[in-house]
Amino acid sequence: MPLPLKRWFILAFVFASIAISFSIAVAAVDWQVIKVNGHDYLTVDNISKFYGMPAEVVPSGAKIQGETANHPLEFVSGSREAVINGARSWLCFPVLEYDGKSLVSRTDVAKTIEPLVRPHRVPNVGKVQTVVLDPGHGGYDKGQVSRYGAEKDFALDVARKLRPILQAKGFKVVMTREGDYFVPLEVRAKIANSAHNSIFVSIHFNATNDDPNATGFEIFSFTPRGAPSTSDSAVNANSAYMQPGSSVDAQSMALSACIYHSLLGQLREYDRGIKRARFAVLRLTKVPAVLIEGGFLTERGESKLISSKDWRAKFAGAIGVGIESYQELPVNKQPPMLVADYRRQAKSAPVDPVSQDGNANDAEGNLKQAGANAKQAGANVKEAGANVKEELGVNVKEADASLLELVGRSALLPQPPQPQKSTPAKTSLESAPIIP
Ligand SMILES: [Zn+2]
Repeated sequence: MPLPLKRWFILAFVFASIAISFSIAVAAVDWQVIKVNGHDYLTVDNISKFYGMPAEVVPSGAKIQGETANHPLEFVSGSREAVINGARSWLCFPVLEYDGKSLVSRTDVAKTIEPLVRPHRVPNVGKVQTVVLDPGHGGYDKGQVSRYGAEKDFALDVARKLRPILQAKGFKVVMTREGDYFVPLEVRAKIANSAHNSIFVSIHFNATNDDPNATGFEIFSFTPRGAPSTSDSAVNANSAYMQPGSSVDAQSMALSACIYHSLLGQLREYDRGIKRARFAVLRLTKVPAVLIEGGFLTERGESKLISSKDWRAKFAGAIGVGIESYQELPVNKQPPMLVADYRRQAKSAPVDPVSQDGNANDAEGNLKQAGANAKQAGANVKEAGANVKEELGVNVKEADASLLELVGRSALLPQPPQPQKSTPAKTSLESAPIIP
């Protein structure tokens, strides 16, 4: 029986209303692409309206800190530096001033801003059963060395502390190394690629010869196709643009955001930002992958902190929370907790026995102890390294059985013995030659 005419009118009206409001919604999100020298850009104003997030462009040369940023989207004129939701985030291309407007490259809107602002909308995001933990370096490759110990030992200790945390959250955990031996970078990537629904988290500590005062956290994911890495100063060098990207770079960026906000929100460290690099382990992994640099072994205060067991436990815990936050993205269907959320939570929570003061005291104690040791033994780095090794119980020679299953025993053996002096520098190791 046909519907009465009146009811048809009502239905038509309802459909028309839906159609009108839908077209308004679509109109509001229209991207107005502006071509400059053949490249596509979008105005900051357009981006701000699209996401419904207030934005600001500060003058070139201005310094912006995440915690003092006035808006959720902060850009610096002529710079690749931005602060997105309270964390420094590096664009692939600088913000361009053109015809009275501030422009952001289309690549950055798609590859940087979108996965950072709406990580929960990245396709296949948060699918993770296995977390592949990759403690950097190992064996003859010590990584960076401070007076308190070596990067390889600190990184392994963080991974060991993180494994039970993740297992308690229901993740399967595979470590690329269980002890003090070197695992080739391609094998580390192979381990991640062989695991089912895996993500890859590489743990490192930083160093620089340029600035003894350099401090802070940074996190890397693979540079998208057609873009330069964050450290590439020659932004106009076209050669970098044609490097292949990764089919999972949006997921990797979402993982970066989840872990980085947790780290910054829970440990008071300088914010160096969410960056892009073509490090070998990021290039060779085919699954969402990040590389964390957990502070500088070349800076006095920070190297003390890193030498503290309690601090490393807190650092591992924050990575664990970040990974869980990544897994929850498709469940919660909303952005992850941000720096400000973590800090608010910490303020309202009861006092944590592992406070920053406690760490400082602990680190101070370690420093005194190390100093005494050095005096007594007349040794410094070697001695401290040995102490740390002993403390961490780094004596495992055999790789994890599950790991061997994944990649085969032959992949891990044999290790070429390397003379100490030829230990590759960090930069050459982590940014091994790019194969186009
Ligand atoms: Zn390293």
